[in-house]
Amino acid sequence: MTRQIRVLVVEDEEAIRTGLIDVLVFHGYEADSAATGPEGLEKALTGKFELILLDIMLPGMDGYEICDRIRAVDRNQPIIMLTAKTSDDEIIQGLKLGADDYVAKPFSIQQLVLRIEAVLRRSQVGQEQARTLSIGNVEIDTENLSGLNGSEEIAFTKREIEVLSYLALNSERPVSREELLLKVWGYARGLDIETRTVDIHIAKLRRKIEADPKQPEKLITVRGAGYRIVMDG
Ligand code: CA
Repeated sequence: MTRQIRVLVVEDEEAIRTGLIDVLVFHGYEADSAATGPEGLEKALTGKFELILLDIMLPGMDGYEICDRIRAVDRNQPIIMLTAKTSDDEIIQGLKLGADDYVAKPFSIQQLVLRIEAVLRRSQVGQEQARTLSIGNVEIDTENLSGLNGSEEIAFTKREIEVLSYLALNSERPVSREELLLKVWGYARGLDIETRTVDIHIAKLRRKIEADPKQPEKLITVRGAGYRIVMDG
C-alpha cells in the first residue's frame, strides 16, 4: 500500500477544524491539525505535509504571515488558504503571498475535495516539465524554481513556474486566462476573482522577468485572447 498523503489543517474554530479532519480522513488522507498560528507554523515547517489548509484569522499569528514564512524556506509547499466567501481582498492577499489556491468559507465538501485533488495533482505534474527554460536573456531552472536575469538571481514559486512552462509549451499562440485556470490550476470556472488569480500571477512574473514590467516584451497581453510568451523576447 502506498503511503497516505498528509494534510495539515491550521484552523482555530474547533467545529471547522474537526469537520475538515473528518472529511480528509474519509477521503483517505492522513490529517493533522493546529489551532493557533505559532503551532501551525511550527508543524508546517517540519516539511512532513503534502498540503497545508491555512485559515487566515488565527490566534498568535495570522495565515498571511504563516504563508509568507513557509514560502521563505519552501516555495514548493502546496498551500490552500481558507478565506471568507465575501472577501476578494483576503483571496488576493493570500495569492500574492504565494498560496496556491483558496477555498471560500463556508465551503461544500465536494468543492473542497476537488480543490485539494487539483492542487496535489498539479504538484506532481510539475515533474514532467522541461528542466530549463530560456526566455530571452532569462534562464530558468524549473526544478530548483530559480532563474538568472543577466546576473540577477530570481526565485519563483512552483505555480509561477507552471504558468511559464504552460505558456512556453504553447508559445506559438495566446493562451486565455480560462485555459490557464483549467490547465495550470486544474479547474474550470469563470468567476471574476479566479481570472484575477491568473492576472496576479502574470503581474508577479512580469516583475521578475521583464526589463520593464509596464512594457512587457516576454509575457505579452493579446487583447481579447489572453497571454502569450515570447521566448526570444
Ligand atoms: Ca479563524
